[in-house]
Formats: sequence, C-alpha cells, structure tokens
Amino acid sequence: MMSQSRISRWRLHRRKAFLALFVVGIPMGIGLLLLAWVEFDPTRLELPSSVVFLDSRGEPIRALTDDKGERHLWVAREGIPERLIEAFLAAEDKRFFNHPGFDPLAIARAALANWEQERIVSGASTLTQQLVRSIYPRPRTYRGKLTEVLRAIKAEMLLAKEDILEGYLNHVPLGNGMVGVGIAARSYFGKAPEDLTLAECATLAAIPKAPGKLSPYRQDPSALRERRNWVLRRMAALELITSPEAEQAAQTPIRVRPRRYPNTAPHYVDLLVERGHANRESGSPWTAKDSERVVRTLLDAPLQRHVEETLRSHRERLADLGASQASVLVIRNRDMAVLALAGSIEYSARALGYNNGVVALRSPGSALKPFLYGLAFDSGFSPATLLADTERRYRSPRGEYDPRNFDRRAYGPTTVRSALGNSLNLAAVRTIQFLGYPAFHQKLTALGLLNDPSKGPDYYGLGLAIGNPEVSLEQLVTAYAAVARGGVLRPLRYLAEDSASTGNPVMTQEAAFLVADILSDPNARSLTFGSIACLDFPYRVGWKTGTSTRYRDGWIVGFTPDYTLGAWVGNFDGGPMKETGGAHGAGPIFSDILRHLYAESAPTPFTPPATLEQREVCGHSGMRPTRHCPSKRLEWFRRDQVECPLCTFHGEEGIHHELEAPFAGWLFDREARGVNSSFALASGTEDRPAPSPVEILYPLDGTRFILNHGADTVRLEAGTENLVERVTWFVDGVELGAVGPPYRLDWELAPGAHRIAAIGPGGIGDEIRVQVE
Ligand SMILES: [Zn+2]
Repeated sequence: MMSQSRISRWRLHRRKAFLALFVVGIPMGIGLLLLAWVEFDPTRLELPSSVVFLDSRGEPIRALTDDKGERHLWVAREGIPERLIEAFLAAEDKRFFNHPGFDPLAIARAALANWEQERIVSGASTLTQQLVRSIYPRPRTYRGKLTEVLRAIKAEMLLAKEDILEGYLNHVPLGNGMVGVGIAARSYFGKAPEDLTLAECATLAAIPKAPGKLSPYRQDPSALRERRNWVLRRMAALELITSPEAEQAAQTPIRVRPRRYPNTAPHYVDLLVERGHANRESGSPWTAKDSERVVRTLLDAPLQRHVEETLRSHRERLADLGASQASVLVIRNRDMAVLALAGSIEYSARALGYNNGVVALRSPGSALKPFLYGLAFDSGFSPATLLADTERRYRSPRGEYDPRNFDRRAYGPTTVRSALGNSLNLAAVRTIQFLGYPAFHQKLTALGLLNDPSKGPDYYGLGLAIGNPEVSLEQLVTAYAAVARGGVLRPLRYLAEDSASTGNPVMTQEAAFLVADILSDPNARSLTFGSIACLDFPYRVGWKTGTSTRYRDGWIVGFTPDYTLGAWVGNFDGGPMKETGGAHGAGPIFSDILRHLYAESAPTPFTPPATLEQREVCGHSGMRPTRHCPSKRLEWFRRDQVECPLCTFHGEEGIHHELEAPFAGWLFDREARGVNSSFALASGTEDRPAPSPVEILYPLDGTRFILNHGADTVRLEAGTENLVERVTWFVDGVELGAVGPPYRLDWELAPGAHRIAAIGPGGIGDEIRVQVE
C-alpha cells in the first residue's frame, strides 16, 4: 500500500501533467481541429424576440412564447448597462476579457475536481462556453465538453468580446421560461435593463447558477438573496464597486413584480393578435428601441386592473339580475387611445369568459338615439323643438310597426331635450319618420354602426330609431367619442404607432354639443329615469343607456370631454336578464370606473361653440315664454336660428297647455282614462286659414283582418295637421259618421274587401283598403 504522502504526490504529478496538457498541448492542436471539426455559426446567435406587448408605460402585458415555451426580448449591446455586465462577469466569468473562450485555470481546477469525485461536475464554464452551449446543446461527456471548448474558441475567433457578451446576456436562462436579461428585467422589475439598480443587476446575475431554486417568484427568497449578496461581495472584491456600495445594495430586500403573464388585458392582446399585430408579415408596426418585436400598446395597465377588479366586484350583483357577463371599454378622447378593455368579467371558461364582449355584435336598444337627434339638430331641430310622444302605427317595409315606450306610456307633447333625455321611443320614431329613415341609415353608416352592407334602409325601416341593427361596444364607444369630440369620428387607437387620423366629421360641432348637453343634463331625464343614485355625478357626464328586447342586453355609454367609456351586461349565450336594463345593470359599473378616473380631478367642462347662444324658453313647451308661463329655463339655440313662437301652452291666463291637432288622440285617451290634466286642444279651429289634410292613422292600408266569432269592431282613427271641427268617415262610399277630434269611430267588420275614407273640411281626405276574412 502506498502511503498518504505518496498518493498525494502522485496526484500532484497528475495535476501537473494535466495542466501541461491543457496549457501547452491542446492549444497547438486546436487551431487545425477547430476549423475542420467543430461547427459554430454566428448567425445562430440571433434569437428572434418573443412578441412582447407593453402597456403605455412600458409594462409588459403579454409575451408570446416560442415553440420551446420560452419568452425572450432581445436587447442590443447599447441597451445593456455596464453594471449589469459587471455583475454577470463577477458571478460567472471574471476572466472573460482575458481568456480565449475557455479558462484553462478554471478547467484545470474543474478537471481535478471531476477526477477526484469520479464524475463530471458542472462549473468552470466561461460565458462563451455557456453561450455556445445554449446554441449547440451538448451531451454531458468529456467529448461534449471538449467540443464545447473548441466551439467557444471558434466563437472567440469569429466574434468580438462585446458581441459574445451581447449574445450571452440575451441567451442566459433566468428562470420561469425567461431567456435573456431583456425579458427578465421587464418581468421581474418592470424596467428596461438600463434602468436596473445595482441590487437588481446582482439579482439577475445570481439566477443562472440555479434558475429554478433561485427563482425570484419563490415564497422564500433567502437563497436568492444569499447568492445575490455573494455576487455583490465579489463585485466589490474585483473592485467593480466599492464595499459600501455592495453593503448598501445587500441591505435591499428582493422585490419583484407579481407574476402576471399572461393575464393583463388578455382580451386586448388577443384582439391585437387576431387583427394581425403579432406577426411581421401583416406589416405590423414593431418599434426599434429594445427590440424589433415589442408591440407598444396604449393600454393603461393600472386602469385595466382597476376595470377588471370592478367587474369582478359586480359579479354577484349581476348574477342576482340574471346577467353572467359584462364588458367594459375605456378610451381617451384626445387621441382615441384604448386605455382599458375587458371583454368579460373573467378571462376563463366560466360563463364563456374567453369571449370578448367588446367586439360582439348585440342589439343596442336606445343607445343609437343620440345620433338620431344629432341628425335632427343638423336638420333644423333645436333641443326645444316640440315632438309628439304619442302612439301610432306605422306601415313599414316589413309590416305594421307599432312602437311603444319602455314603460308603455305616451308622454304627449315633449321637447327634444326631454325626448332624448328620457329615451322616449314614440317621439324618436316620429323624429325618424320626419327625417326619413334612409337619412338616418346613411348617418349610422358614416358613424360605423352598421355592419351588414347588404341590409339597406328598407330592411330596418323606422326601427332604426330604437336600435334594431346590431352593434359592438367597440363601435358604440367610438361613435359616442365622436360626440364628445365635437362631431369628428376617429378610429380607435390600440397601438402607440397607430397614426392619429384627422377623422371624419359626422355631425356639426353644434349638434355634437347639443347632444352632449342633453345627455349630461340630469333634469332632462327626470320623467322616466327618476334618480339613479350611482349615476348622479357631482360634475357633468353625458350618458345614455340601452336595453334590448326581452332584456338580453343592458348598455350604458357615456363621456366627458376627456374620456368615453361603455359597459355592457348580459349573457354570452344570449339568455335574457331579469328585467334589467342598461341603467341598473351596467350603470353601477360605469359609475365606479368613471369615479375612479376622476378620483383626483374634475372633468374638463363641455364647451359650447361660439355659434350657439342661450335663450329663455317656457319650462313646459320649450317655446318663447309669455308672462303666463309657470316656469322658465334657458335653452341652447344656434345664433342664426329664428326665434320660437310665443308659448301656445300658456297663451292666456286661465287656459293652460293648449295643444295642436297631432295631440288630439293622445289627449282624448288621457281624458278617457280619467287623467286630470291642464292640457286642452287649441281653440279657434274655425280661424285656421287653410283646410288641413287628413290622414288615416288606423287601420293601415292593406291590413288583413281575420274575423273571430261574429261581430268584431275596429276603431277607425284619423289625424290632422291642424285642428278641424269634423272628419267624416266613409266605408265603401257609404257615410259611417262624422266625428270631432280625435276623429275616431268604431266600425263593425264585415267579410270582404273594403275601401275606407276619412274626409275633412274642404274635401281633402285619405283613403285606404282593407280585407276582412
Ligand atoms: Zn309656456
């Protein structure tokens, strides 16, 4: 047996022999072997960055993974601070600038260690070796190690040290599927590498030794802190930093951002990917600062999180109302930036939550009415124009149309301000009938609110006024923003690179202001909405709700001059809610988000264009007030708009609310129901200068009646523009009777084809045909 000392001497000889082999023998042969034997292709250094979506402040909101499930974000050498390089050199390869790709001293030491432990231990790899290993994975054998060393030397022959550094720092695995300092700095610290502190640089440099064990996301970061502080001490020992600097950094707790890939604004990013912003082929706009594959969005991540939290906080409340889903879109009017977008309450399979409710086409209910009145204002109406919110049936291309108000009441004489504020359907249908539905169809097309070009005006008819075309929340919010922006429609901008288009005027500045003024006037909606506490804001906010048939959709879209936001509630499977409309369903969500936006400051006020002025009007009729009018208020008019006539409601003391002929039927019905009111038909019909045309309101021309059992009667109904004393009814040329306002007469149905005529004074009348079977 050999003695201990002889063994150690023998080992020492072996060590020297190894050293000689490495230091002298190998380098001589390497040159030849290299070129013939090992492959190193510098182009394989390139690592196309993951497509990374950043919010407007540079916070990553999603990084798409590559086929290995890894994420990376290439940072050019200029974007890597010296401090970070020093930290990595101190941690991994302090002789980097002095070795030829491998470190003979380190290898010798490692080789001895391996020999002694009779297995291959890791370590002793230079940055260059680590880099070539990440490009050319090798088996953990001596042969593999040798190949790696040769490759490293070849890499050093072909590349400058700086290029190797750049490659290394972009290929180094930093845990949690992140490769390279670019993505790691962004994800762990929310910063570009150049903004990292000394402690953060050292933290990143600490990870590669054991990316799993040293993950910053670990509950207990003590192992990482220990390793980081070791890196700091080593940096100080190498005189890269001073000892006090190292001390101070070592005191810093390890704080990383919560892990949230890919959960920030998932619908927002999905939408961008869907629309082709994640692949170069579509000509999408990458920016060049950190990388060519960063998509800078305009999302406001903190606001987005607030919106998502708000939606979750309403989940239970909505469930009670029979709504399982909700969507929200918030934009900034100035540049049309989409600041927050939540397509569902939760991005999950729950209640079909992967669907994006912001782009789904749904029925908007009354949410289109502001655009109808915008068109009316540009057609000579003012907010004081008197409309008849009275029932009548209309002939439409798709049959008889019999609109009703939400509460099935008819409000009679109503100003445009009140009709829009209270969302009255009857007045809206009368308005669209007056303006012509093709004109409104054209307006909605210009506003981007009609999605099916094959459906022309006749397809929708008068129903356009109360929202029968399907629209998305995205489209509605865009169109409302045009109102907030003085009538100029601009497309939404999701990306910083999206050019700001100058936009298309869709209504005059005056019309836009008037619509905004009405939608932000709490007094204008007192008839039907009463007071909805959550929507009583201490500043002016324009908002409009919408509710689709059978409560399938509840909408609210609103704006200040600064922001436009919309919320939808309902069910993705199309199921109805429990009698919940936009105001009570979506209103509270809208309110929470709006109040958050203005937590610290009040909105910019709406500014009237100089072409408008305020005039005093009667509080009831909207006409020029007389001394008899019980209340007065101010109303906006175009300066060039002719003065209203004096109030006819309160013409003379003692007689109140005188109404014109179109209200005759409404007034009659009210009185028949025993509603006590101060309305009366205008007197003095004999004074009317011209005979008034008569129109048969019911039945409609071409109606087919089916007889039930014997005697069925139908109430014939006519209307006149001006009051006339009598209208005479004829059936098949035989006089049925003469009646005063509201010109109604019962007619007993008899089988066969019939001609029905109503004739006013002067013989001007109307005739229709019906069929009774
Ligand atoms: Zn009056």
